[in-house]
Amino acid sequence: MFAITGKKSTSLCFPKMLFTSGNSPHLSITSKVFEFFNESYEIASDVEIYHTNLSDDNAFGFTEVNGKEQFIQIHNDLTEEDYVTTVLHELVHVVQNEQGITSDKVREDQAYHMEKVLYKGWCDSLQGVHNSPTDPQNRVY
Ligand SMILES: [Zn+2]
Repeated sequence: MFAITGKKSTSLCFPKMLFTSGNSPHLSITSKVFEFFNESYEIASDVEIYHTNLSDDNAFGFTEVNGKEQFIQIHNDLTEEDYVTTVLHELVHVVQNEQGITSDKVREDQAYHMEKVLYKGWCDSLQGVHNSPTDPQNRVY
């Protein structure tokens, strides 16, 4: 169920809606991270990602269920690496909420594991943009 194939979904169904709000220097990549995540997981809910100052909460991100929508809060002062990792981590919680996984230990073990796996996949997918698979001599190793 959690296998990462790296294969683009051929489904004609578009992923559910993503809404972004608040301010962050990384807003230009939020929907790309969401789409990347949707290649591996299916999200049935609408998702809102709200960028705000979470310094007082001493956290990078939160996810809560808000009716049919899942509401993610992300700290607004993160490096790009932390930002992408945190969004991926919270999206794992979105899927867990849909699956009814409530154990904090299971949730965090899975989310911390998958954020690393997915972040690596994200970096690999960025590499792929610059390399043409039909021109192996142009590949960068
Ligand atoms: Zn978590």
